[in-house]
Amino acid sequence: MILKKWDIPLNADDILRGQGVEPTIIHTRRPALLEYAEWALGESLPLLEPVVLAEFKDVMEIRHERLVLSNGGYLTGKLLVQHLMKAKRIAIILCTIGSQLETISNQLFQTDPMYALALEGAGTAAVETLANQACRYYEDWAASKGWKTSIPLSPGMVGWPVETGQAQIFNLIDASQAGVSMNNNYMMTPRMSLTQILGFGEEMDIQGRTCDYCNLKETCRYQDHYAIP
Ligand code: SF4
Repeated sequence: MILKKWDIPLNADDILRGQGVEPTIIHTRRPALLEYAEWALGESLPLLEPVVLAEFKDVMEIRHERLVLSNGGYLTGKLLVQHLMKAKRIAIILCTIGSQLETISNQLFQTDPMYALALEGAGTAAVETLANQACRYYEDWAASKGWKTSIPLSPGMVGWPVETGQAQIFNLIDASQAGVSMNNNYMMTPRMSLTQILGFGEEMDIQGRTCDYCNLKETCRYQDHYAIP
């Protein structure tokens, strides 16, 4: 399933967070960075090409650390088994904002690196916002069936290494439908793309928040900002 009609409501503070800086500090101490973020906001919104690809699979059984899926696919990993033990179905989700924004920011790095960084921040914020919106969309779908939804599980979280998770996800979906490819180092093109798994079922045991399983949780300042559990 491909969905393309997404509204990405960004503001300048989202772009600053996407650059890894704290907006309240920038407002008082580095107003020039805020100006770049505001310029980037106007430039970046028309360049976004949001696409969400979702592939649904039934969970047939769980053996040791392996989820056996309908059509013979599988996923492995301690994190997945912990969160998807009671899932009836999963969605394998790929979100991308396309390549236009990163093409322009790549071109600008030589001549205007501050502006290029602001555009990068806009792209990061946009793909995270898109992923959150996709989660909410599928949570609402699950709730309409009386099902609960797991936290979003992405390659790179504690208990699911990037090289394991990304390879498994790309085996289960046709990412080319969303215009995305992956190289031998598990990097996606366009770069501003993100993958995640959601599990659904009546008896789901929801454990913690995504941040609890993130490798950055000891240092990340944005844990209260993102509303997804
Ligand atoms: S700790 Fe939470 S907000 Fe920070 S990067 Fe990880 S998932 Fe995102």
